[in-house]
Amino acid sequence: MIYKLKKPVHGTIGTIRYTCTIEWRNGVFIADEPVSSGGADTGPDPYTLLLSSLATCTLVTLRMYIERKGWDISNIAVNTNMYQAKKDETNITVIDRDINFLQPVTAEQRNRLTEIAQHCPISKILEGEIKVRTFAYDDSETGKQIKYPNNDITVVWKPEVCKHSGRCVTHLPGVFNTQAKPWINMEGASTEDIITQVQKCPTGALSYFRNEEKLQ
Ligand code: SF4
Repeated sequence: MIYKLKKPVHGTIGTIRYTCTIEWRNGVFIADEPVSSGGADTGPDPYTLLLSSLATCTLVTLRMYIERKGWDISNIAVNTNMYQAKKDETNITVIDRDINFLQPVTAEQRNRLTEIAQHCPISKILEGEIKVRTFAYDDSETGKQIKYPNNDITVVWKPEVCKHSGRCVTHLPGVFNTQAKPWINMEGASTEDIITQVQKCPTGALSYFRNEEKLQ
């Protein structure tokens, strides 16, 4: 399993209602809640971010297709909005996407581009099966190094450095399992597999040493 993003989206919040700092691959932006929900509206709210993702993906996908076809279509606008309703005790969410070609296009082009938009990657995600996995950590162990030995090596985990990307959990669940205590099970894989995974930790929170080295 390979994550879509090499660097996960990293969000933090303090006590200022409800300013969130969102770090992405190439910068930082602020997200917030509208005043009606107690925020200061200094940035997009979560629904807006979700709909922005679909609008962006639609526009980029259409532009790529139009370029490939060599069609002369310059500007395109997309509106996205959503509503939620209850059907047979189930909450359903309906997202509406309106595509507006800001110049005349043929019926064939419009039909084809509508089809292409419906298959943009974010559309597929939203219309496919989605599972949100949540892992919770406690950074109260700041400054600590926790050691997990097996017969060959000792894995060292620094909680304050761990950014909880979950990479280790996803790739080697037999060893790294945040639901278990201790969360690192050194019997869950071969020493070589553990070393390989430790070396992939993106933050350096995981390291290891060979037990014999420590004895020397
Ligand atoms: S130890 Fe490394 S790979 Fe595992 S969750 Fe923390 S930062 Fe991610």
